[in-house]
This record gives sequence, C-alpha cells and structure tokens, in this order.
Amino acid sequence: MTETAPLPRTTDGAEGLLPPFRNEPPMDFARRECRERFERALEQIRARFPIEAPLVIGGARRETAETLEIYSPNDTALLVGRSASATAADADEAIAAAERAFRDWTATTLGERVGFLVNLAARLREERALLAALEVFEAGKPWREADADICEAIDFLEYYAREILRLGAPIALQPHIPGERNELLHEPLGVVGVIGPWNFPLAIPLGMLSAALAAGNTAVWKPAEQTPLVTWMAMQAMERCGLPAGVVNFLPGRGEIAGQRLLESPHVHMIAFTGSREVGLHILRECQVVRPGQRHVKRVVAEMGGKNAIIVDASADIDAAVPDVLYSAFGYSGQKCSACSRLIVVEDVYAELLPRLRAGIASLKVAPAWDPGCQVGPLIDGDARRKVEEYLALGEKEGRTLFRGEAGDLAQQGHFVAPAAFEGIEPQHRLAQEEVFGPVLAVMRARDFDHALDIANGTEYALTGGVHSRTPSHLELARRRFRVGNLYFNRTITGAIVGRQPFGGFGMSGIGSKAGGPDYLMQFLLARTVTENLMRHGFAPLTGSPPG
Ligand code: NAP
Ligand code: MG
Repeated sequence: MTETAPLPRTTDGAEGLLPPFRNEPPMDFARRECRERFERALEQIRARFPIEAPLVIGGARRETAETLEIYSPNDTALLVGRSASATAADADEAIAAAERAFRDWTATTLGERVGFLVNLAARLREERALLAALEVFEAGKPWREADADICEAIDFLEYYAREILRLGAPIALQPHIPGERNELLHEPLGVVGVIGPWNFPLAIPLGMLSAALAAGNTAVWKPAEQTPLVTWMAMQAMERCGLPAGVVNFLPGRGEIAGQRLLESPHVHMIAFTGSREVGLHILRECQVVRPGQRHVKRVVAEMGGKNAIIVDASADIDAAVPDVLYSAFGYSGQKCSACSRLIVVEDVYAELLPRLRAGIASLKVAPAWDPGCQVGPLIDGDARRKVEEYLALGEKEGRTLFRGEAGDLAQQGHFVAPAAFEGIEPQHRLAQEEVFGPVLAVMRARDFDHALDIANGTEYALTGGVHSRTPSHLELARRRFRVGNLYFNRTITGAIVGRQPFGGFGMSGIGSKAGGPDYLMQFLLARTVTENLMRHGFAPLTGSPPG
C-alpha cells in the first residue's frame, strides 16, 4: 500500500463540464403519471422476488454457506430475497482486494473519478422508481420516504463529485511570496470500511461511499443486515458504470462478524459508520487499538442516534405546529435519527395543543408501505417491534397515555405498531432520555420558553431540534441556546437536504463533520504541504544513470 501515492495534478477540465449542483427533485405523486409509474415499478420489482445478493470481492461474485433471508416488514410471509452473509475470512479478502485496487484507483484523474460519480448518479436517476419500490418492500418505507432516499443518494454523488474538484487539485498558498512555492495537497487515506444503517438504506451508505471514492480511497461496504437487496442493486449500478474491480467490495452479512473484522483489520484506514450509539461507541473503542502490522491511526466518522425535541410556545401557529410534529414524530414510523421523539409544550398553550395533537395522531393512517395512503408503515423487524412495545409499557408507567392506536390485523401480518403519545413525561424519565426509534412521542410540559430550552438540552444526544414560535426573541434565544446539530424553526425537523442543510450532530449523536456539507470530504483525505525554494543556484546535471 502506498499511502502517499500522488494525486493527479489535472482536473481534466471536469469543472467546466459539470453544471452547478442542484438537488434531485422528488417525484410528485399528486400527478397521475408519477403514481402510475410507481405502481408499475412496484409490480416490476415484485416480479423479480426473490432477489439474490452475493458478495462481491475484487469484482468476483461469491455465494456463502450462510444466507440472510429478507422477508418484507409489511408482510412477513413475503420473501423479498436472500443475501450472502460474509465471514471474517471473506472480510479479510475484501480488504485485501480493496488494498490491491488502491494504487490504480488513486492514480485516476479527478476527471475520471468525478465522471464515475456523475455517471452513477445518472444511472440511479434512471432506476429511481425501481430502487424506491424495492425499499417499499424491503425496508417498509412509504412511497415518498423511499423516493426521498433515492433522491438523497443521487444528491450525495453529485455533491461530492463537485467537492473533490474544489479540494482535489493542489491549492497554492500565499503565491505572492517571492522565491518560494507552497502547495497544499489533499490525498486519499487507503481502504475505507463503510458500515451503514437500514433506515436510509441507499442515501447514507452511498453518501459515505461516494465521499470515500471521490477522495481516491477504495472501500469495503457492509450494508445493514436488514437491507442487503437495494444496496445490491446500487452495487450492480456501480459495476455497470465501469467501476474497476476491487474499488468497492460488497460485503453483506452480520455486523458482529463481517463488520467487526473491518474494525480489527490493520489494513483498514478509516471507518465511516452511521448507526446506533451503542455500535458507534464500540467502533470507536475497537479502532483505538493498534494491531500488529498497523502503521496508521484509524480514523472514525460515526453518525449516531438522537432524542430530538420540538418546542411549541404560546405564540406558535398551532395549525402549522401540529402537522409538523406529526410528520416529524411518525413519518417512517419514527425510524429516523432525526425524528421528533419529545414534544415540549409551553404551559400557556398546553391545553389548546393537546386535544389537537391527539386528534391528529388518531387520524394517521397505519397501512402497508405499498399503500399510497400509508402514513405509518411497519417497523423494520421483530426486534424493533419488541423494543418499541417495551417503551409503550414504560410510557404508561412513567406518564399517562394521551393516545395509543391499534394496528389491528396488520399486527399479525407484519411488524406494525400504531402511533402513541404519552403526557406527563418528566426530563429524568427514560422515555425522555432514550432513543426509541418507533412511533412513540413523549409529551412534556414547560413553565416557560427558557424552561423548554433547558428540557430540550437535557439529554446526551444533540442531533436535531425544532421550535414553533412567532416570537422573534424566542427564535433568537433558541438559535444561541438550543444546542443541536440541525435546528429548524417553524417546520418539520426531518429531511435534511444535501448542500442546503448539512447534517449531523454532536454529544452522543456522533463525531465527524456534517454529511452533505463543505467539511465532510476532508475526513476522507489527508493533507500534505510541499514547499519548494525557487531561489536555486543554477541547474546541475544528474550524474550516473537516469532514473527509471
Ligand atoms: P446499528 O444496529 O448500530 O447498525 C448499524 C450498522 O452497524 C449495521 O450495518 C450493523 O450490522 C453494523 N454493526 C453492528 N455491530 C457491529 C460491529 N460489532 N462491528 C461493525 N459493525 C457492526 O444501527 P441500525 O439499527 O442499523 O440503525 C438505526 C440507528 O442508526 C439509530 O440509532 C439511528 O439514530 C442511527 N442513525 C443515525 C443517523 C445519523 O446520521 N446520525 C442516520 C441514520 C440512522 P447489522 O446490520 O448486521 O447489525
Ligand atoms: Mg443491526
């Protein structure tokens, strides 16, 4: 492995070829042709079940003795597909393949790498309905949510393609200094282990992967065990775009086995992770250990969980606040790291807001994600459902039930849990502190706006937050005092847009700088400074045989 392989010095004029970055527009399901296209995509993808996903190591597809069976969370009798499940030895081979591919990949020009990312974005754009349709079945994502995941994946590819043009060419430093040339070079690290979650099965891992590839690194990609199939479709798209063998090695399987090996390998330079606090902290601990043969400190970017709050004050527009809270709390059944799981209501408006909130929750449609009217779909799996049911029981103990829906027959068919909200939750309660990751809202009462901010800041997480208020001084105070990575005023608190709302938190919500923002790519690069004294004294011929 040559860690200091030179980055190409030209951009091939690629800047000139790229139009300015623009976010991928979501499908407009209010239009009949979009609805019909999506219905067709659901049928087309269903006709391909069961989808079989192998490992891909060094460009070669490979079966494994053990497999993962993927049943739809909407209907646990529906087999969506099967994937290979990598062993630790497979992981070692994948890492070795990524290491071998590094020398050639890092020697590609910026233009070639940018070209690959943009071509991949174009291919995903062509396949977006099919990819989103597969997420409906595999991840239980309702139409709009699934479509948004694909749009975000495309955005990451386009965004980091432009970012590497900004950072990848040598940057001249203080060029006016006579007699000296100073350059700042950004170079790749080596092999990056990409470990993703299931809840944004394409956007999040493709964001991490595209940053790694743009920077000139190679990668081993361990998708979440719940969503190996849509990730496999993306892997195939990469192959069709001419990705050289070994640049991305696809390693579906179990985190504790294949993922763990990425943490332990001395040949992996960086782990880019998004998932739970528990696994994130485990990764940080493991990556601190220097293994025999390791010549570098492993970098870790870890995006983790949240316990996000929306504050509603007495001046808020309740007609806007209620739907924003409902969507933030119950969209994708609360299975977003950015989801609202605490609603903090200032006393003066409590009595007015609560009945409206209750009625709003009662009106949400619980349905399979393939139903276009679905507002609350299933949870991802049986473990998630058991965990959420424990929190429902806890909510009744720690507080009082404001509303608890019934999933009816759907609860037999899939992993459905109807939305619920509990009032009388106090800051020290577990329901106010722990990430639930389901359709459960803790409602808390604050004496005044200041108290509401104290409650909002009173968890170890700091990911997203929101304020509904029409009082400018309150918004100003929140701007300074509401300490979260992504703060939203008078709107929903989920759905950050690449380039517009760079995303990520701090505290126990993670370390690393924001995805979809101008600092993100730096994490996948190392910087070198080269200084040359230009006041040399003449030229001296080489003695002996010429180099090379
Ligand atoms: P998770 O259980 O932490 O898993 C995430 C990934 O880590 C999976 O691929 C998992 O593999 C892998 N993993 C598990 N144990 C491992 C080990 N010992 N070594 C290496 N890898 C290991 O999280 P999840 O349930 O998929 O996702 C939900 C969580 O992600 C929530 O906490 C949510 O808040 C968080 N999240 C955060 C963000 C953010 O941007 N901050 C975004 C989305 C989600 P398996 O699938 O095989 O277990
Ligand atoms: Mg898991």
